[in-house]
Amino acid sequence: MGISAKNKIPLSCLSPRQLIELDACSRCGECMKWCPIYAVDRSEDLIPGNRIAALKKLLKSQHGLRARLFAGDRFSKEQVDRLIEVLYECTACGQCHFVCPARIDTAELWEALREAVVEAGLGPLPNQAEYLRVLKKYENPFKEPQENRGLWVPRGLEQGTLYQDLPLITQSPQPVLFYLGCTASYNPEINLVAQWVANLMHKAGVKFGVLGNQENCCRGKLRRMGDGDFAAKAIENIDLLNSLGINTLVTNCAGCYKTIFQDYPRIKEINFKVYHAIEYIDMLIREGKLQLVNPVPVQLTYHDPCHLGRHNGIYDAPRRVLQAVPGVELVEMERIRQNSRCCGMGGGLKMGFPEIQALAAAERIKEAERTGAAAIVTPCPTCFLGLQTGAAKAESDIRVKHLMELVNLSVFGQ
Ligand code: SF4
Ligand code: SF4
Repeated sequence: MGISAKNKIPLSCLSPRQLIELDACSRCGECMKWCPIYAVDRSEDLIPGNRIAALKKLLKSQHGLRARLFAGDRFSKEQVDRLIEVLYECTACGQCHFVCPARIDTAELWEALREAVVEAGLGPLPNQAEYLRVLKKYENPFKEPQENRGLWVPRGLEQGTLYQDLPLITQSPQPVLFYLGCTASYNPEINLVAQWVANLMHKAGVKFGVLGNQENCCRGKLRRMGDGDFAAKAIENIDLLNSLGINTLVTNCAGCYKTIFQDYPRIKEINFKVYHAIEYIDMLIREGKLQLVNPVPVQLTYHDPCHLGRHNGIYDAPRRVLQAVPGVELVEMERIRQNSRCCGMGGGLKMGFPEIQALAAAERIKEAERTGAAAIVTPCPTCFLGLQTGAAKAESDIRVKHLMELVNLSVFGQ
C-alpha cells in the first residue's frame, strides 16, 4: 500500500536553490567517506548521495509529470518510512557539505526536508516527536518546572561555586545577558560550567545579568527536527530578548548559539550581538581583562563542535584560549576544524538512535586516544556529554573535559 495524498511532501519548504541542489548531486560518493554516521551504521541508504537520490525520486513521484499521469503512487509505505528514518539518522553535522564537490549545503537541505516531511505528517520519528512534545510543554527537555530554572544562582552561591550574585536582567538592566539554555540550567554538571563562565565574566568586570525563571528554551531543537512551530516560538524569544535593552548576549551552549546567532535573524531582526562563551572569554583574555596565571599541566586534544566549527567558523578562538593556559600542550587529532568528526549529538539523532550516537562518539574518542593525549576537551556542553558517552562505549580512560574548567583553574587556581 502506498502513502495517501495527504502525505504529499510540500515543495514550498525547499528554496529554489535547494531544489536545484537535489539535481546537483552526481553520486560521486565523497560524502560517504566522511559521514560519521555511515561510518558506524553501514546501511547504503544512509549515504548522503543515496539519500538525496531517493528523496528526489519520492518528490518527483509526488510532484512531477509522472505523478499527474499515474497518480504518483510508486512508493510503498515501507519505502517512505525508511526514507524518513534515514533522513533522521543524521546529526546534520554538515561534514558532507564541506567535502561535496558540488558544495551542496546538506545541513540546510536536511533541515528543510525534515520540515517538509513533518508538514506532510511523515516525521519526525516517534522518540523525537515525544522529545518535542515535552520540550513544548515544559519549555525544557527534562520535564523540569519553569520556576526551577533560576534556582542554580542561589544554589551556586550557597555551595560557594558561584562567587557573586547575578542580577535578574528584567529587574536590573545590564548591557550583557548571560543566556544559559536548558542543559546548563538543569543539569548540575553543565550548570557548574555556566558558573565558571559567570565567575570569569565577573572577574573581567563585565556588567551582566541573567533571565532566571524568565529564560525560555531557545527552541533550536524544533528547527533541527523540522517542527513547523519553530518560527512562531522563535519570535516569542526574539521579542523578549529585543525588549531587554542589551547590546550583547553570551551563551555557553553551542546549540543555543547557532539558533540565536544564525536562525533567529532569518526570522526577525535581533538588536544585540551574539557570542559563544568561548569567543567572549577569548576576547576578554586578549583585551587583558583576564589573567591566566596558574599552570594547568596537561597534554590534551581539542574537539571542534559542529555548531561552532563547521556551522559558524569558530576554530581559532578556542585554540587561542587553550594555548593561553600555561602548562597546556595541545596535540591535534587527524580530523579537525572543518573535517572534525561529529560526536553524534546533533540533529536529534540521540533521541532517535541513542546507540548510533554512542558508537559515533566512541569513534571520536578512539581518534583522541591515537594522539596519546590524556584528555579531550571541548567548549560545547552537548559534545561534552556526548563524548562522555563515547568514552564509556569505547571503554577508554581518556578524560573528557570542558574547556571552561581549564580556564577557570588557570584564573582562580584550585
Ligand atoms: S559529495 Fe556531494 S555530489 Fe558527491 S555524492 Fe555526496 S552529496 Fe552527491
Ligand atoms: S550531515 Fe553529517 S551525519 Fe548527516 S549525512 Fe552529512 S555527514 Fe552524515
